[in-house]
Amino acid sequence: MPSAPATILSFEQARHVVEEHAAALRPSGKELLELLDSAGRILAEPVLADRNFPPFPRATRDGYAVRAADLATLPATLEVIGEVKAGVSVDAAFKIESGKAAAIMTGAPAPPGSDAVVMIEYTSRDGDRVTITKAIAVGDNIVPIAAEAKRGDRLLSPGVRLDHAAIGVAASVGRSRLLVYLKPRVAVLATGDELVDIDVPLAPNQIRNSNTYSLAAQIQAAGGEPVLLPIAPDEPERLRELIAEGFEADLLLLSGGVSMGKYDLVEQALAEFQAEFFFTGAQIQPGRPVVFGRAPGALASKDHKYFFGLPGNPVSTMVTFELFARPMVEALAGATPRKLVFLHAKLKSEIKTKPGLKRFLPAILSGEFEQAEVELVRWQGSGDIAATAAANCYLVIPPNREQIAAGEWMPVLIRQL
Ligand code: AMP
Ligand code: MG
Repeated sequence: MPSAPATILSFEQARHVVEEHAAALRPSGKELLELLDSAGRILAEPVLADRNFPPFPRATRDGYAVRAADLATLPATLEVIGEVKAGVSVDAAFKIESGKAAAIMTGAPAPPGSDAVVMIEYTSRDGDRVTITKAIAVGDNIVPIAAEAKRGDRLLSPGVRLDHAAIGVAASVGRSRLLVYLKPRVAVLATGDELVDIDVPLAPNQIRNSNTYSLAAQIQAAGGEPVLLPIAPDEPERLRELIAEGFEADLLLLSGGVSMGKYDLVEQALAEFQAEFFFTGAQIQPGRPVVFGRAPGALASKDHKYFFGLPGNPVSTMVTFELFARPMVEALAGATPRKLVFLHAKLKSEIKTKPGLKRFLPAILSGEFEQAEVELVRWQGSGDIAATAAANCYLVIPPNREQIAAGEWMPVLIRQL
């Protein structure tokens, strides 16, 4: 029987291997959606400015439109010749000559002749006269025409995730529909004789299959469409059948059966599909036995199907998805690849650990404003799904550390929705 040669990589090496393969992936197609339905999806077309932004010199304050040179000596008293509010069109007849001013509101067009807006706080009004007590420079409190974008400029590029700011941009250029990439189909195959579905009565020796659901939620958050396969027993024939079904999707995620036990059959079953293995373990905890590879597609083409064998311990499954599977789902979804970035927070209490593995331990990020603090949750190891649910991040412990004092700044991986 074929089996995979063991390739255990450091965390960073394993992550780079995944990123390299992800970079070559493309989504399978596009669809046109109503603007709000496209929120959270990946844009598949450039979005251009349909006009100049702003389309007129825009006042950014309530106050008076003036000629800055008129305020050379202070206080200066000017004649108020009118009022400009947001939404009005100012014609050339309404011109600010020297010695004149116009009351103006935020968002209104600065009238011809004016070159600055004085904030109302520095003025006092008496009938058609205004007295100004503060000097101003040409251009102050006015955004010039096209300063934000010129008509035809690209404001959004294919590959961006349409967050609320991007939706705002699309709305501002009048796009009521957007072309987005189709979601990739990601098959989830949980393995294990002890597993039962979540909606059937179970015996004391049985375990509910939670990984299929946590993975499905992670797939959705990463922009994929989960395809839930039935539970595979620790039995080669049925496992092979279900793996073959999984390869019909764009990506296959297996959970469980990748450790060294007698009934850990996943690698061997995959090897029988002529799979190539890029790694069969990473020096991390939780998640050490994680497997990444690909199998030739059913058609004799370059059409490979990638897979991950994720360890079955529920926390290992979640962590290895975030660290390794997420970039593949995002790439298949058409998203521009992004690097994994760890933020830093101050350690609340001392940690003692064993060196050798890079650890991603469930932790709670707290504090207020600039005071980010982090603390490990107490847990019973990588099967402890309840402790992990109470956490909101993973504290990253480098492999060379044994003792870390309270007060040290530590890298943290934020847990995504
Ligand atoms: P394995 O990786 O198959 O050796 O499984 C490791 C541990 O994770 C065992 O305690 C399993 O019962 C548990 N486990 C495996 N798969 C799942 C699953 N789909 N849902 C919940 N727990 C699981
Ligand atoms: Mg198992």
